[in-house]
Amino acid sequence: MMIRLLPLAAALSVLLLSACSPTSEQAPAAATEAAAPAGDPVTLVIYSERKYPFLEPIFAAYTAKTGVKIETRIDGADALIERIAAEGATTPADLLVTVDAGNLWQAAERGVLKPLASPTLEANVPVNLRDAQGRWFALSERARTIFYAEGRVDPGALSTYEALAGPEWKGKLCLRSSSKVYNQSLVATMVERLGADATREVLKGWVANLAAPPFADDTLLLKAIAAGQCEVGIANTYYLGRLMKEDPAFVVRPFWPNQTDAGVHVNISGGGVVAASDRPAESQALLEWLSGDEVQAQFAALNHEYPVKAGTALDPIVAAWGEFKADPVDIAVAGRRQAEAVMLMNEAGWR
Ligand code: FE
Repeated sequence: MMIRLLPLAAALSVLLLSACSPTSEQAPAAATEAAAPAGDPVTLVIYSERKYPFLEPIFAAYTAKTGVKIETRIDGADALIERIAAEGATTPADLLVTVDAGNLWQAAERGVLKPLASPTLEANVPVNLRDAQGRWFALSERARTIFYAEGRVDPGALSTYEALAGPEWKGKLCLRSSSKVYNQSLVATMVERLGADATREVLKGWVANLAAPPFADDTLLLKAIAAGQCEVGIANTYYLGRLMKEDPAFVVRPFWPNQTDAGVHVNISGGGVVAASDRPAESQALLEWLSGDEVQAQFAALNHEYPVKAGTALDPIVAAWGEFKADPVDIAVAGRRQAEAVMLMNEAGWR
C-alpha cells in the first residue's frame, strides 16, 4: 500500500485496516471504510493523457457532488504506463485515463491495471469497447474515418478504406504519420478483417497515392484537404469537430466507409483503475460515474466525440454528420495486432 499524506484519523484508520487486510484483494473494503469519516476528503490521482482543461469541468462536477478531490498528472500514454510500472506499490496513481484501445491494451499487458467486476460499467460500455477482464473501459468513442473536400470531391466516388488504394486517388490522398497509434489501431483492425497480405497491398496503394509526406497530426491533415493540397484523407472525427466549432464554414466533411461490410473504424478514450491504487473502490466509483447518464453527454461533447452509453444525446456538430454503421470488432484487436500492423506499415513504406 502506498504512503500518502492524510489527516490523522484517516491515516490511522488506513493503518488499522491495512494491518488486518494484508492482500490487495481486500483493499477495496479498507478504502471504502477509510473514506467514511466526514471531513476527511479523499483525493484521487489520475494519470491522464487527456489534457486537463478538457477534463477539468467534469472533475469539478464530481468533486462538487461527492467531495472527492481529483488531481491529474498529464503525460503521454507510454510515459504514464512506464511511470506506474516503475513506481510499483508506491505509485500515487489511482486511475489511468488515456486515448486509443492500443494504449489501454498495452497498460493491461504491462500489468498496471486492476480487473474490475462492475455491473454498472458492464451495462454502460458496449462489450466490444472494454477489456474482457475488466481492466479498461471505453468512456467515449471517436470514428477514424475518411474526410473529403465538400464541393471538390463527389462523396459518391468514395466507398471503403481499401478503395483509397485505387489509381483514381493517385496524388490525392493525405495520411498522418504511421507512428501514431491511431493509424496503427486502424491497420490492426484491417489485418483482423482482411488478413496480412491484403492489408499490405492496401497500404502500398495508399502510400503510392499520397499527395504529400505523412502529416504530424490530424488537424494539419484536415487543413490540407481544405486548402486543396489533397482531396481525401483519414482522421479522427473530433478534429473536424474542433475546426467546425472555430469555423462553421470549414469545407471538409466526413464520409462513412464500408457501410455494406465491416463498418467505420471506431476507437475510444477510456480508463482503468490502477492495480496498486490505495483507493480502488473510490476509483471504480469515479470510472462508473464517467460512464453514466449524468456525465456521458458532456464527456463526449467537450471534445466532439461520441458517447459510449446508448441513448446519450450527441453534440450538435457531431449529430449533423449523420448516423453510420460502426465496425463491431473487439477493439482489443488494436493492441493484440499492433506489432503486426507496424510491421506492415513499414513494409509498405508508410513513414
Ligand atoms: Fe487525438
